Amino acid sequence: AHLDRIGAVDDAVHAFLHTDGAPALAAAAAVDAARAAGDDLPALAGVPIAVKDVVVTRGQPTTAGSRILADWVPPYDATLVTRLRAAGMPILGKTNMDEFAMGSSTEHSAFGPTRNPWDLDRIPGGSGGGSAAAVAAYEAPLAIGTDTGGSIRQPAAVTGTVGVKPTYGSVSRYGLIALASSLDQAGPCTRTVLDAALLHEVIGGHDPADSTSLPGEATGFVAAAHDGARRDLTGLRVGVVRELGGEGYQSEVRAAFDASVEALQRIGAEVVEVSCPSFDAALAAYYLILPAEASSNLAKFDGMRYGLRVEPSDGPVTAERVMAATRGAGFGDEAKRRIILGTYALSAGYYDAYYGSAQKVRTLIQRDFAAAFAEVDVLVSPTAPTTAFRLGEKLDDPMAMYLNDVATIPANLAGIPGISIPNGTDAAGLPTGFQILAPAREDARLYRVGA
Ligand code: GLN
Repeated sequence: AHLDRIGAVDDAVHAFLHTDGAPALAAAAAVDAARAAGDDLPALAGVPIAVKDVVVTRGQPTTAGSRILADWVPPYDATLVTRLRAAGMPILGKTNMDEFAMGSSTEHSAFGPTRNPWDLDRIPGGSGGGSAAAVAAYEAPLAIGTDTGGSIRQPAAVTGTVGVKPTYGSVSRYGLIALASSLDQAGPCTRTVLDAALLHEVIGGHDPADSTSLPGEATGFVAAAHDGARRDLTGLRVGVVRELGGEGYQSEVRAAFDASVEALQRIGAEVVEVSCPSFDAALAAYYLILPAEASSNLAKFDGMRYGLRVEPSDGPVTAERVMAATRGAGFGDEAKRRIILGTYALSAGYYDAYYGSAQKVRTLIQRDFAAAFAEVDVLVSPTAPTTAFRLGEKLDDPMAMYLNDVATIPANLAGIPGISIPNGTDAAGLPTGFQILAPAREDARLYRVGA
């Protein structure tokens, strides 16, 4: 049914870069056979899923939205993909994204944008717009995204779906094509909070192949979602972040947010305003740390090890000239912009002024969170400042594009978990999102309050 739905709507939505009907049907048939044999099956066995194209899948193309990886077929599975397969979940295909997960609209994909199913002239958010759109358009019941600065939560907000960025280290990064290694985290894109909890329990838990993976199993999320569905939050302390929701936020986004805060109060939550003053510098710090790490991570695309190789059109074929020709042809404008920004921020003469300062701001943000979580159990804000904007509207203005991430970035800088849940629509009928943040390793709170 999902493959038929993809066939019917994906020419318009373009959520997928690549679909895999035959292996998905074979995986589904294997689950049917096991069920007929009376096997005890995992909760999501037979439920199909879409996977963001930055996650490597053995034998299936993985491009990260970049021309430089256009013909690359990975020889191995990411740990989270191994876990999906072991849980009996057929993989429908790979979803579209901004090149190397750099962007907030999916317009920086080398393979054309994804469109928002709610209004095809608008963006589905980014960088994981393909995963969010696939779920919103009922092309897949579940999807995997990655969130380095908001790329799961912001697309969820503008497509009316649920998106979770787990605690850093909670889901293995083994087999994710790295954008910024200290910020990247994979997580669920779904239509309900319970679905996200079920999926998080499948993909989460310790992985010895990822040196930053936290110890322990991923459990308690489904129970927390069921607990939350009882709609009793008596005694829960909720902090509204003063710095996230004022200037620059669309008034209808703010109004929908305020209405949901009142709803939390009605079911017993105590609401207070908290201040996190360093958040005002979060965007600036992020856009130095991320390009710095990205410029290093992208150095491996040299025209020799993976994917595209372009030889210089004239003159000698030296290693350096092949690298220059390949990277010049293979990377898009946004990737080039960030490589240049990042190498500049890391250069000897500017390191202290830029990268060093940004790392200090990162520490201040972590301290703001620590102080806030000493007072409250969860923090809340609008997920994104506006509803979905029109395709092309911010493409020529990187600063305007970066401002979409203002509410989601602090969580990545601190490594804490966050969820975006659907929060009604604006006057034009476009979805808005409600963000909940919890202390590191307290992901279960997101599922309880979110549900
Ligand atoms: N929009 C942010 C950026 O462009 C977030 C990216 C992400 O989470 N992958 O960096």
